[in-house]
Amino acid sequence: MEKLQSLRGMVDLLPQSTPLWQRIEATARAHFARAAIEEIRTPVLEATELFARGIGEATDVVGKEMYTFVDRGERSCTLRPEGTASVVRAAIQHGLLSQGPQRLWYGGPMFRYERPQAGRQRQFHQIGLEMLGFADPRSDVEAIAVAWDLLADLGVQGLALELNSLGSSDDRARYREQLVAWLSERADQLDPDSQDRLQRNPLRILDSKNPDTQALLAGAPTLAEALSPESRDRFARVRDGLTLLGIPFQLNPRLVRGLDYYSHTAFEITSTQLGAQATVCGGGRYDGLVEQLGGPATAAIGWALGMERLAILLAQVEPASVAAPEIYVVSRGERAEPLALQLARQLRQAGHAVELDLTGAAFGKQFKRADRAGARWAVVIGDSEAEAGVVVLKDLRGAAGEAPDPEQRLSREELLRRFA
Ligand code: ATP
Ligand code: MG
Repeated sequence: MEKLQSLRGMVDLLPQSTPLWQRIEATARAHFARAAIEEIRTPVLEATELFARGIGEATDVVGKEMYTFVDRGERSCTLRPEGTASVVRAAIQHGLLSQGPQRLWYGGPMFRYERPQAGRQRQFHQIGLEMLGFADPRSDVEAIAVAWDLLADLGVQGLALELNSLGSSDDRARYREQLVAWLSERADQLDPDSQDRLQRNPLRILDSKNPDTQALLAGAPTLAEALSPESRDRFARVRDGLTLLGIPFQLNPRLVRGLDYYSHTAFEITSTQLGAQATVCGGGRYDGLVEQLGGPATAAIGWALGMERLAILLAQVEPASVAAPEIYVVSRGERAEPLALQLARQLRQAGHAVELDLTGAAFGKQFKRADRAGARWAVVIGDSEAEAGVVVLKDLRGAAGEAPDPEQRLSREELLRRFA
């Protein structure tokens, strides 16, 4: 029989990796709580139309990366490729926006049919922030600061914040015309992908990875020049806010981001340690999206952070750790084993991390496992102890920097009091 395997691009997270993921998640939760950002959870499966309307038909994500299928009720469904459209849909559906501005965060798996490589999977995970109902340039600064401080607190090194302004939709429409006119005269010098984008999604040509296209673009009109005075002023205020907070940034006029709904501030946080998939966190302002999805006109800004890329970065600087139990229960014999089962449960109910050896193997083997598990204490029960109503408490390694306590024989009650 052929061996069953996970699907291409769908990755298992094994126990040696989950402590790091849990640390990232716990740190993120703490940072969100401190910034008065509330969690929202939405389904992984949505009507295809949500993403077609929300992200835009011309984007790579909708055009070629979605996991879409027809369900048994003949509805076209899509596994969410990102979180923003779902959060906005939920906010509209449940009238959250009538309760005032919303600071929301989400986390979970996303699905994109891409070519898997390091830092690029078909099921991947994001943590994201959406601030709905915030127009002030300070909200752009706050959103970026939350991401920046979270990454810094996690201990990620060598990060850079790249920043651009895409202007208003009027600015972009004006620029789009200029760019298409300029590029059309030089279409023969564009790579095939970019030629294809020239009509469909010309701004995306700006972040083409093709070196010849990049060289050509050096002479193209820039979006910065096309910004209206209001848009320029707004962008200056965002930059001033970041400077005030001491968050360093680089202007990147080529940064356009993949999704259609962005306007004004666009940013990415990148690391030189990640190779080709350098972006850990990307986001920006999407003032038109809520209305586009049927809600009231609502200014908004958000970002999403790729958990796998973040985990790659952190795994480079911290060794994999395994959570050790505090107490390892060793038992052997007909009377000892049921007692051990009971005691392990009582110790857990008192709040301790307890691993119960269920092998019934020789004491020596069980001790070896207790040691390998990294437990501080072993509780040892043989039939003679069980009969006498006692257990042996062995200190396997001592408290940090101290010699182990001497071995003790304790009654069951004494043991429970000791670990109350
Ligand atoms: P990229 O240019 O790398 O494809 P993107 O612009 O498509 O990124 P976003 O839609 O902005 O990415 O998603 C935000 C973040 O989610 C990215 O910066 C990245 O860290 C992560 N991410 C996106 N796609 C994937 C993927 N297929 N596998 C792993 N992480 C991903
Ligand atoms: Mg992508």
